[in-house]
Amino acid sequence: MSQERALPRIGVLAIQGDYAAHAEALAEAGAVPVEVRKPEELASLDGLILPGGESTTMLKFLEKRHFFETLKEFCASHPVFGTCAGAILLAREVRNPAQRSLAVMDTVVERNAYGRQIDSSIVTEQTSLPGGPLEMVFIRAPRIVAVGDAVEVLARREGFPTLVRQGNTLAATFHPELSHDRRVHRAFVEMVTGVIKG
Ligand code: GLN
Repeated sequence: MSQERALPRIGVLAIQGDYAAHAEALAEAGAVPVEVRKPEELASLDGLILPGGESTTMLKFLEKRHFFETLKEFCASHPVFGTCAGAILLAREVRNPAQRSLAVMDTVVERNAYGRQIDSSIVTEQTSLPGGPLEMVFIRAPRIVAVGDAVEVLARREGFPTLVRQGNTLAATFHPELSHDRRVHRAFVEMVTGVIKG
């Protein structure tokens, strides 16, 4: 097998939002990024990123052509990473206002939780990822207001979880693709390679 084929193929949902920056980050973190616009494109992938954007717009798109159901099945059997709007889509419950979600993570998420004055900000906080404090870029970010026992919190802001993992699923309320630090994408690529057999 060639070196090229040994790299994991990780999809980035490319409906809307900052998917190109995620694709670049994935390539830097040792994966082959694949833009995904149709449910059938999930079939050849080892993992998937749901990027930031507007979760309501993404949801409307997914509700066409059975994409929502196909994606939910994919999430049950593959590593998935949701950032910002993507973290909203993965949550068990969405508030402010309530909206449908994939419900694959035991999290409760409040949309646009930081108010207008500070709707975009950059903070550096402790993380349990190796390598010291982590820069986190927030853009009209949601807040994770509750997590179940199976959810591991890897970073926080003002006490609220910002980077969480539950089994094969990872979620960030910030935008790791907009920082130079590739630790979060590398952690996800490692989650993906950990489940690829052989
Ligand atoms: N405010 C957006 C939402 O509620 C998320 C913002 C983002 O992804 N940067 O869907």
